[in-house]
Amino acid sequence: MTLERLLGAACAVRPAAEADAVDGVPARVVARPASAQETSALLQVCSTHGLAVVVRGHGSKLAWGRPPERVDVVLETGGMAQLVEHSHGDLVATAGAGMPLTRLRHLLAGARHELVVDDLAVGRGTDAAGSTLGGAVATNLSGPRRLRSGPLRDLVIGVRLVLADGTVARAGGKVVKNVAGYDLGKLLTGSFGTLAVITEVTVRLHPEPLEVRQVLVRVPRDRLAPVLAHLVDSQLAPHALEVHTEPGVDALVSVGLGGGPGSTRHRAGRLAAELASPTLAGDAVAVVDPEHTTAREIRHVVPDAGRARSTEQEVALRPTLLTVTARLSGIPELVQVADDHGLTVTGSAGVGVLRATLPEQTPVTEVLEAVTAVRAATTRLGGSTVVLDAPPAVKASLDAASTWGPVPGLELMRRVKAQFDPGRTLAPGRFVGGL
Ligand SMILES: Cc1cc2nc3c(=O)[nH]c(=O)nc-3n(C[C@H](O)[C@H](O)[C@H](O)COP(=O)(O)OP(=O)(O)OC[C@H]3O[C@@H](n4cnc5c(N)ncnc54)[C@H](O)[C@@H]3O)c2cc1C
Repeated sequence: MTLERLLGAACAVRPAAEADAVDGVPARVVARPASAQETSALLQVCSTHGLAVVVRGHGSKLAWGRPPERVDVVLETGGMAQLVEHSHGDLVATAGAGMPLTRLRHLLAGARHELVVDDLAVGRGTDAAGSTLGGAVATNLSGPRRLRSGPLRDLVIGVRLVLADGTVARAGGKVVKNVAGYDLGKLLTGSFGTLAVITEVTVRLHPEPLEVRQVLVRVPRDRLAPVLAHLVDSQLAPHALEVHTEPGVDALVSVGLGGGPGSTRHRAGRLAAELASPTLAGDAVAVVDPEHTTAREIRHVVPDAGRARSTEQEVALRPTLLTVTARLSGIPELVQVADDHGLTVTGSAGVGVLRATLPEQTPVTEVLEAVTAVRAATTRLGGSTVVLDAPPAVKASLDAASTWGPVPGLELMRRVKAQFDPGRTLAPGRFVGGL
């Protein structure tokens, strides 16, 4: 029996095309379940027959991590994209994992509620629909406003999931205060689709601020440390503190503020005045209305994000992308080390999570040297370095250990994987330790 017929009894299935390959690994079929039940039926068959399954939202971050060892089935979540519930009084919403974040934003806007993740992938991914809720959770990616509201992990209060053997489970609840039981939602956030298929997510919402302002500052490199220290300690409650540096260029620091109209403008003005003092940034400071700046700043954060790179040529053409973290006081030093090795750095100086990139043409030996130097710096500064994405030649020179760096809880993670997915059905080889 063909694979299409075998799986076709569970849900809609089509033969895979070249564009469905995952990080250069060709797929055999694409399955599109429309519910948790169909997902369950599909995974039962896959685990019984030893078929490898890779979950795909809009495919914008599908190459992150190690390439999967094999891909029989790409499980697309687009058939599960409905808003299940928006509970106005509780500031909570439940939606299918395939829900595009842009659409969710639109649906919540009527009540002036929002899920505080920034639309960094807007206009990208499959059909330019941006990232999906499930994909954002599976990669635990929050944007600049994570400083105010916490990472996406803290906004997820419930999930419905399907384990590799087809078991459907639910964890957490729709009400924020429900913390009974083991927090599967937190475990799945950032698991890169290796533990279970998320089919539905319940998230905590925030009221939309009535006004937002952004203070942008160009900072000469020797003043970055005092400027960041001043901003981290600021009483003006910024909701985002981002830094962008390129080799040989002054740093660009952007501070986001939100709240009531009068107070936000006032705080932005005060902050600009403080930064303009001669001991900090001097006259290199400018206050800019966010409408004019947001898109540009954000594009820096996700270099080339959202392009589904499946053809051989596209797979070869991508920058090396690292996640680098450090304690807040270590950010200026980290930026300097990155700069010395030709890396462009962007990210949250307010929470210590940044992205560093090297252009796609950088010779492999230089990339490896840069990764080693930056990893040594982040380790010294209380953080870590992960190679999220890289051209195939670089990936081929890295193994799981050099991709993810030292992982203190690896033995525990091995046991969790063995319990959730003993047959290694889900994205085998993608995650830390080759899980
Ligand atoms: C620093 C940074 C911050 C970002 N912040 C934001 C943000 O605030 N808002 C935003 O819109 N985007 C943000 N992005 C981009 C965004 O997070 C990604 O585009 C998004 O996570 C990918 O969604 P996708 O649907 O394209 O997932 P895909 O690329 O299809 O999948 C990503 C990973 O998740 C797995 N996966 C996908 N769906 C599921 C599921 N249902 N169950 C289990 N595993 C699954 C996949 O197998 C894969 O490992 C950010 C990116 C960066 C680098």
